[in-house]
Amino acid sequence: MKVYFWGSRGSLPASVNAEMVERKLFEAVSASRTQPLESDEAVREFIRKKIPFSVRGSYGGNTSCVEIKGADDYVLCDAGTGLRDFGNYYMKAAAKKEDSSKVFHILISHPHWDHIQGFPFFVPAYVPGHHVRIYGCHDDLEDAFIKQQSPPFFPVPLQAMQADISFHSLKPGITYDIAGMKVLTIEQNHPGRSYGYRFSYGGKVIVYSTDAEHAEDSLEEQSRFVDFSRGADVLIFDAQYNFLETIDMKENWGHSSNIKAVEMAVDAGVKKLCLFHSEHSCNDENLDRFLNDTRDYLAIHADSSPLQIFLAYDGLELDA
Ligand SMILES: [Zn+2]
Ligand SMILES: [Zn+2]
Repeated sequence: MKVYFWGSRGSLPASVNAEMVERKLFEAVSASRTQPLESDEAVREFIRKKIPFSVRGSYGGNTSCVEIKGADDYVLCDAGTGLRDFGNYYMKAAAKKEDSSKVFHILISHPHWDHIQGFPFFVPAYVPGHHVRIYGCHDDLEDAFIKQQSPPFFPVPLQAMQADISFHSLKPGITYDIAGMKVLTIEQNHPGRSYGYRFSYGGKVIVYSTDAEHAEDSLEEQSRFVDFSRGADVLIFDAQYNFLETIDMKENWGHSSNIKAVEMAVDAGVKKLCLFHSEHSCNDENLDRFLNDTRDYLAIHADSSPLQIFLAYDGLELDA
């Protein structure tokens, strides 16, 4: 199995603006002053090897949408604005292949806007012959999708999309078979509740858990989540805040920290931890520092842990 991140921002899309691009260019050009960059290949190598990711790239701006690769059909977690890019990629490349699936399984953590707002722009849902199956544990999930595409919010109603779109209700604690994968869900602490998903396929496990607060005094809830994530090859974890924010100003806002992510991933024996649902007000430099701080914390918290830590960005692919 593989995980591909189409969108990883929390709460709100976040774009790179002109001032940020100029700062990146300034840093890159300044760093190149003493380099003999005489060929295109030398320039490319200098960019790849000498310029940090926060300068040469970006953690991206799309809201939550993560593809779980491995099954025959397409499997996606959440329908944030990253879903639009996935749909466009599919229409350009995959749809032209004879053997490409026309079935899309979309599992929704919860219907907060940043997790469904990409759906009206999901081109495959407008194409007859496609099947879009939307899953979730919220009773009002279909209603949320209908309302989002009702006046005055959007001009095209859900019923006007020409794919075969269906909604499927899931319950925590039951193992489902979705696109040949075993899927288990867990209820999470978040305003209006959210649900995490554990995918098992071909001996590998991926856990998708976003918009989940693991409060300091909720030991029982934390141990339930550690059991749910036990032995995961990849754990995608809501780390919108740093530790101080979760115990001070942003306590009870429904999100977790990078510190909690490390502690729970180590307890659960996870192999790869991917910090997710990044704070929309953080720029690339802030997020680079956030990732480095998290890796430093792992060295203090569990010196010999083999855990690998990543920070999700639009376009990141991880092997399970
Ligand atoms: Zn969210
Ligand atoms: Zn939320």
